[in-house]
Amino acid sequence: MAGSGKFFVGGNWKCNGTKDSISKLVTDLNGAKLEDDVDVVVAPPFVYIDQVKNSLTDRVEISGQNSWVGKGGAFTGEISAEQLVDIGCKWVILGHSERRHVIGEDDEFTGKKAAYALGQNLKVIACIGEKLEERESGKTFDVCFRQLKAFADYVTSWENVVIAYEPVWAIGTGKVASPQQAQEVHAAVRDWLQKTLSAEIASATRIIYGGSVNGSNCAELAKQEDIDGFLVGGASLKIMVLLLVLQGPEFATIVNSVV
Ligand code: PGA
Repeated sequence: MAGSGKFFVGGNWKCNGTKDSISKLVTDLNGAKLEDDVDVVVAPPFVYIDQVKNSLTDRVEISGQNSWVGKGGAFTGEISAEQLVDIGCKWVILGHSERRHVIGEDDEFTGKKAAYALGQNLKVIACIGEKLEERESGKTFDVCFRQLKAFADYVTSWENVVIAYEPVWAIGTGKVASPQQAQEVHAAVRDWLQKTLSAEIASATRIIYGGSVNGSNCAELAKQEDIDGFLVGGASLKIMVLLLVLQGPEFATIVNSVV
């Protein structure tokens, strides 16, 4: 943990769940012990945010998984930052690789979204990360710095930004970055923040890792100096079983990996 502030763990539920499965997940989370010294956030699908907000302990904050680039209006299918605030969200995930590479959102659009959301008092989980072919051709840092610069072109205050390094090849694949691979990029991102923005922003900003984090690999990753938390997809929906015994939500194990 190098960024100041608390360790941060977010659960990205993506486009998963039903009213029933989400009700069960919320009950399990409400019953789990979560270390005090961790910021815990979950990002349900938009249509279930109200249900989660009304049933989940206030200990856990709620995030949108995306928001529109500006004020709401005639934008069919979109959700505005103002609407996320209205329904009780404190956070929004922006620049997730599925938005960038499946939906086709580019760096500039993503940077503008971040600035708009911050202006509406949402905190932003700003995602960056390289594809496999980019890593294999030695372009990991170039890609991450390019994506960071697009955020920096529009964002004026970094106080409410958490950066999530999520290598695309590790997302949903079960192929987690090694603690050394993740640490190397996190340290480079912090160095970039220092050189491009300021030493203060570099030391204050939390840089979290995402990509196949689970209850078994989180502890080693959490020990790395520049890993300040996690963004968790698949494992945020699961119950952990160890030695044939149900241990409760795997997400709670990941939250508690800080100690
Ligand atoms: P994963 O997803 O944990 O399922 O790899 C992480 C993410 O997309 O944020």
